[in-house]
Amino acid sequence: MNLKMNRNSSSVNKIITQQMLVNQRIKLMYQHFGTSFPANLICATLLLAGLYKTINIQFLLAWYLAIIIISLMRIGLLIGYRHNPQHDNLHLRLFIIGTWLSAAMWGIAGSMLMPQHDILGQLLIIVIIAGVTTGALQTLRESFAASFGYIIFSIVPLIIWLSLQPNSVYLLITLSVLTYFLFLTAVAWQGYQIVLEMLSLRFKNIELVDDLSKGNDYLKNTNQSLIESQRLFQSAFDFAAIGMGLASIQGRWIKVNQSLCKLVGYTENELLDTDFRSIIYPDDLNNDLHYMQQILTGNIPAYKIEKRYIHKNGSLIWVLLNVSLVRDLKNEPLYFIAQIQNINAQKNAEKELEQMAYHDPLTTLDNRAQLKKHVNEAIINSKESDKKFAFIMLDLDHFKHINDLLGHDAGDKLLQEFSKKLKSSVRYTDKVTRLGGDEFVIIILDILDENMVINIAQKILDVTSRPMTIKGHTIYTTTSMGISIYPNDGRDMTTLMNNADLCLYRAKKIGRNNYQFCTTEIQSTVQEKILREQSIREALLNNEFRIYYQPIMNMVDSNINGFEALLRWKSKKYGDVRPEEIIPLAEQTNLIDALSILIFKTVSKQIKAWNTNEHNVITISINLSFREFSQINFVERVAEFLKINEIPKNRLEFEINENILMQDPATHIPIIHALKNLGVQISVDDFGTSYSSLDYLQKFSVDRIKIDRSFIKEITYNDKSRSIVKAIIAMSFELGIKTVATGVETIEQYDFLSQHGCNEIQGYYLSEPLSPELASKFLQEKLYF
Ligand code: C2E
Ligand code: CA
Repeated sequence: MNLKMNRNSSSVNKIITQQMLVNQRIKLMYQHFGTSFPANLICATLLLAGLYKTINIQFLLAWYLAIIIISLMRIGLLIGYRHNPQHDNLHLRLFIIGTWLSAAMWGIAGSMLMPQHDILGQLLIIVIIAGVTTGALQTLRESFAASFGYIIFSIVPLIIWLSLQPNSVYLLITLSVLTYFLFLTAVAWQGYQIVLEMLSLRFKNIELVDDLSKGNDYLKNTNQSLIESQRLFQSAFDFAAIGMGLASIQGRWIKVNQSLCKLVGYTENELLDTDFRSIIYPDDLNNDLHYMQQILTGNIPAYKIEKRYIHKNGSLIWVLLNVSLVRDLKNEPLYFIAQIQNINAQKNAEKELEQMAYHDPLTTLDNRAQLKKHVNEAIINSKESDKKFAFIMLDLDHFKHINDLLGHDAGDKLLQEFSKKLKSSVRYTDKVTRLGGDEFVIIILDILDENMVINIAQKILDVTSRPMTIKGHTIYTTTSMGISIYPNDGRDMTTLMNNADLCLYRAKKIGRNNYQFCTTEIQSTVQEKILREQSIREALLNNEFRIYYQPIMNMVDSNINGFEALLRWKSKKYGDVRPEEIIPLAEQTNLIDALSILIFKTVSKQIKAWNTNEHNVITISINLSFREFSQINFVERVAEFLKINEIPKNRLEFEINENILMQDPATHIPIIHALKNLGVQISVDDFGTSYSSLDYLQKFSVDRIKIDRSFIKEITYNDKSRSIVKAIIAMSFELGIKTVATGVETIEQYDFLSQHGCNEIQGYYLSEPLSPELASKFLQEKLYF
């Protein structure tokens, strides 16, 4: 389209230039006529004066008159042209005709007016014609038709007249005039060409000047628009409603606008002093850097992402970021341009929408739609990690009664409180959802074993059975649960839910306030545990628990320094039950307190029985489980116990597993110090199993470490165990901590430990754990060695 226009305009330009050339030529010819016309008249008058005696005067005057008329006509033409110069071609044609007529008059003079016998008169005419024609050539250069015609009409009659004369001199004159004629014709042609060239050059110059001035105007305009667009960019940048910033390829801010400063809470100078990375929320940084790399390598021209910035006050702001790259003429990257839009409000609205779509408005728990998502995620997670998950369906027992009795408001409040309790019973990563009414589902992820689910279910029962105060009423609630396990009881949500629902129904049927597993084996384990729990209760009531004592001997003097108290349960139903089974079960069922008190009381009696005088110093050590040791006010309770039972100092010792101590040293160190201040000795049990450093243990100021029996077992045949035991003994000696080797069964083990300076030993080599009676006998009769 543009090309076409340019072509059109260039042809129009050509026409204009041609026409202007013609116009210019006409103009010049009319101008010259102004000077040639008086010269013409003077020559004609001279000729009249020179020939009036030799030529018929009438004829001469007629000729002179004709010249004057022609001249007047031509003057009329000149006036007409000046008055109305538009009709160029007509003016040109008329001008040429006038010229020819004028030349023809000189042709008449050179032929018909020639005085036959007046040689001087002839000469005069020839000279005047030559002069007039030469002059005409000069003035008619602009039109070859005019100048050539002029020569033809003025000279050819003369040549003809001369050639007709009989004298040979005339022949010579004829030839020279002919030569002159040819010369004049050539000159006329050349003159015409020169004029044409001059004029076209002139027009080209005019065009050039015109183009130049146009170019100048264009440059001026371009410059002006550049300045204008720069100014527009500057003000768009400075006053843009959204944040804008230029950042170098290395990541430093080069330029930031006020909106950006406002968005992130920093001043312009503070931002310019930093790297753009410093305000990006760390989790979003990698994504950003990835896209920037893509831009730099030219894979993408720009990118647009949603991400978070950190405001100066520490809060997070959601922004929509638009980044593009500016390159130089060689395509080298110069800087990034970032447009940053605050989309916090939009994000909040999205969140609200999501909250509405996936959450229960009453309890703010996830709803059924979200449960589907959770189950699908849990299935994927389980497949990847090869772990199971539990689907617990539960409802509040007799919720309908509470609702009917206290009203819906109270019912709603109860559901809210109940939801909070459910959430507090499980880990943060587990999912609690409300299906509707008083129906809930809990998903327990990453199940290690069935005990874990049993414990959680038990915890839910415990927590939800605590009374709640709703609108001034104390309400006691209980919960029933049906539990299905993925993948055993279903591989999709519908099957898991149906099975859990069936089990829930069973739980309700057998009296509520309990949980039922769909997997029969788990359910029988649960049943078994429940039975054992009841048995522990009964055993406590029936006084079935006993404490056995295993002696600990000093290696230097072979004296018995003390005994370790070990729990024994001879159940009528289950036979001998190992303490490792009793303690965790007692912990889960809150029976540990009662059991602890029993052990403490029994041991304190035994301490008193064995420490009858100052010389008999027998220490009894009690094993502490994690729950016992981490009881609130444990130190105070021990202090009270020591006081009430009047236990002398250094007669009681606590054995605490190395694992337990190292779990939270900052909390445990002051507890140990406080116990030691009460005169209780502390030993670290099962030492060597937890990779804790002896050096660190010194901070606890423990009295003994009990080397785990797994090392002692191997000292006679395993070099590594031997080296470990030797090192423990040597280092403990350096640190002033006594060492007790446990599980010593053979004389070889005894000899080795004796050689390497172990302080005390305990094990079947010396004695098995003994009943109190046998232990007393052992002590009195020195039944060892
Ligand atoms: P532990 O603290 O390592 O107790 C030593 C265990 O090693 C005892 O097992 C004891 O019978 C056994 N033993 C002693 N000498 C030898 C030996 O030469 N060879 C072998 N193979 N074993 C030996 P027991 O009585 O079955 O106790 C097991 C664990 O139960 C104890 O390990 C202790 O952690 C815990 N426990 C026992 N009684 C109590 C208690 O009253 N309270 C608490 N919290 N835990 C207790
Ligand atoms: Ca022990």
